[in-house]
Amino acid sequence: MKVVQLGTDILRQKAEPVAEITDEIRELVKDMFVTMKEEEGVGLAAPQIGRGIRVFVVKADDGVERTFINPQIVETSVETCSYEEGCLSIPKTYEDVIRPERITIQARNEKGRRFNLEADNFLARVIQHEYDHLEGILFIDRLDADKKMKIEQKFLKKAEKKEE
Ligand code: ZN
Repeated sequence: MKVVQLGTDILRQKAEPVAEITDEIRELVKDMFVTMKEEEGVGLAAPQIGRGIRVFVVKADDGVERTFINPQIVETSVETCSYEEGCLSIPKTYEDVIRPERITIQARNEKGRRFNLEADNFLARVIQHEYDHLEGILFIDRLDADKKMKIEQKFLKKAEKKEE
């Protein structure tokens, strides 16, 4: 699967809920894990592979493969922390982002089973980053306006070159 980059419309659209967890969805999830591994990422959201549905996969530092379908972050901690983030859709760009330190998320897994997960540190970070993708939000939106503009301009130029 091809990961789309900054400048692609779907990255800026709010993803639609999954109506039914079918074999097609399970196949998609499997492919997403493969793509994430190939790209050496720790998380991948469906909009990044051109699918506007509320699905993301994560494999953080504990090595556990987690699938989130129709997720909802139900609680976030008041305490925040700063950590350097990158994104497969914004290659070679790394910036410190401030986010809540802990979150509680509810979702369904690929079997359709509903689960509740409390996460902190790196896992909470990755989940929040991927969740943002479902809302059409990118980590550069959480930087100051100046930094964000510079990154966007860099990618816009790249996209224009490709079209020429
Ligand atoms: Zn990302």
